[in-house]
Amino acid sequence: MLSLAATLAEPQHFSLAEKLLLIVLTAASAAAFWRRFGAVLDKIRQSKKDPGFHLFPLGRRVWDFFWEVLCQAKVIRQRPLPGLAHAFVFWGFCAFALVTLNHFASGIGVGFLSPSGPFGRFYFYLAAAFAFTCAAGIFGLFVRRFFIRPKWLGQKLSWESGFIALLIFVLMATYLAAFFVADASPATRILWWTHTLAILIFLPIIPHTKHLHLLLSPATVFLSRGGFSQIPPLVGDEDFGLVAGTDLTQLVSLQAYSCVECGRCTEHCPAANTGKLLNPKEIVLGVRAYLNDLGPASDQSLLGKYNAQEAVFQCTTCGACEFQCPVGIEHLPILIGLRRGAVNTGAWEDDYGAKLFLALERGSNALGISPSERDKFIQKQALALFDGTQEYCLWLGCMGGYDPKGREIVADFARVMNYLGTSYGVLRKEKCTGDPVRRLGNDLLFQQLAEANLEILAQSKVKKIVTICPHCVRTIQEDWKDYGTPPPIEHHSEFLARFADKLPKQITDETIVYHDPCYLGRYRNVFDEPRAVTALAGTVVEAPRNHERSFCCGAGGGLTFLGEETGERVSHVRAAELVATGATTVGTACPFCNSMFRDALAESGEAAPQLLDIAQLTARGLPKNEAV
Ligand code: SF4
Ligand code: SF4
Repeated sequence: MLSLAATLAEPQHFSLAEKLLLIVLTAASAAAFWRRFGAVLDKIRQSKKDPGFHLFPLGRRVWDFFWEVLCQAKVIRQRPLPGLAHAFVFWGFCAFALVTLNHFASGIGVGFLSPSGPFGRFYFYLAAAFAFTCAAGIFGLFVRRFFIRPKWLGQKLSWESGFIALLIFVLMATYLAAFFVADASPATRILWWTHTLAILIFLPIIPHTKHLHLLLSPATVFLSRGGFSQIPPLVGDEDFGLVAGTDLTQLVSLQAYSCVECGRCTEHCPAANTGKLLNPKEIVLGVRAYLNDLGPASDQSLLGKYNAQEAVFQCTTCGACEFQCPVGIEHLPILIGLRRGAVNTGAWEDDYGAKLFLALERGSNALGISPSERDKFIQKQALALFDGTQEYCLWLGCMGGYDPKGREIVADFARVMNYLGTSYGVLRKEKCTGDPVRRLGNDLLFQQLAEANLEILAQSKVKKIVTICPHCVRTIQEDWKDYGTPPPIEHHSEFLARFADKLPKQITDETIVYHDPCYLGRYRNVFDEPRAVTALAGTVVEAPRNHERSFCCGAGGGLTFLGEETGERVSHVRAAELVATGATTVGTACPFCNSMFRDALAESGEAAPQLLDIAQLTARGLPKNEAV
């Protein structure tokens, strides 16, 4: 045990030869470090400036840095045990910064912390506590990587990681052991030099390996774009997205070099989990390999050798990767940037994609149905047209206006609005928000749809919008901002939750498993409202993956309009998880999720739960004579 009488032992004297050796070894280690680190910084600096990037306001950045970097909050929250082990190592490194400076200073005779002085004594004890937890943490991470071996870390054992773990362990062990020896003992000198050599070997390894994240990830977190899945604007006629190295921006390059290869993104990716080619970790590493081999001035394609086009178009844009990444890597601007590059240069050839683009150009809805069918639905349901006097514009979206089940959801939501006495109307000329083309990278078409809709809304004097579709909410509120100022919009779950005390509470023995749609949960941070509404209709139960960790339905990113998936169907995997909860009903809050689960649940046999949107669950409790 470390007794309070013990002090950190240090050699009392270093010979001239020792001092010279220390200086030469330190210079060699620093040179080897800089050779690689300087080259990495050059590649980041030489990359294109990020359009639309603003450093200010700083408040959010400082908070993210404090919370995610210094407190390691996200790392611990998302994977408590390994996260805590990682945090112990990180905090150990922070505590050792001063100890290490003093260590080298004492080697050349200018040490500034004395083990016998009050501050030095206190600080060395504090560092000893951190050394102990750091050693325990690195041992835990070593056991996990080499014996538990989660598949997300990759099939191949990383001996480099093993060696780094050993060095960190040696650093901590030699520091702690120095409390148990006397200054004059030969063991003190051996411990001192072993500690020194471990640091000098460790230093150049950092920039040559994924441990580069130790230096870069604090900057990556601090400089993030802010907000989820922020798609940067294209600038000028020559900007087609991420086509070649010359299109890589400084943030993308910084992020590519910050990846710690932990595999959290891949662990949560619906595509990677269902046998697709897409692996978000490999996408980031593909960009890094490109930068290493060709650099940011290259005009060679980013897709091909380094990242497969097929993989990029398998992304549902669910955002699980970006949400999970502990070092602030923003996958969606990269994935959508690569799609933009392929679509805007005509390199992406896909029959379903071409059909979707054509449908949106001609009929302005993604389902390719004549707009007159939407008019018939509006008439049949006697939905009022928006005339500027109503409080809300009820935005139907493609699913609410054309999909049979989506129309049922709209009809039931309209019943609830009637019951609440809210005035609303629908737009006759509403077009697709452009969500699928925005995510697929067709910027020209997206711009046309966004501008046309913004004009219609302005002409109609719409002040507030409510809709059943989280994709419409996201696209109108965030993506349209590139082309104008949309009116405020809310999702029907938020609207309904606000009126929860005015809506009937149903007495049932029904259990309802609520599925968090990606575009409402991770994208909008709305988790409680749909649950509050669902609770009016029965007992809410949770799927194993819920809230921020919810598993995608497979529809997003325009994929619902593309061809058959390879591997297992994402919707089937999620539906099986929902069925396994034993709930009698699956509750949804997105017409895309609803459409994906429709087929998936039908295949789960007689015991399949019923599938209802929260608007339908709510409308079910209204008095029977409530008119539409
Ligand atoms: S957004 Fe979702 S589907 Fe796309 S790579 Fe990330 S986790 Fe996978
Ligand atoms: S991108 Fe982020 S989550 Fe994925 S492996 Fe790299 S560091 Fe981990």
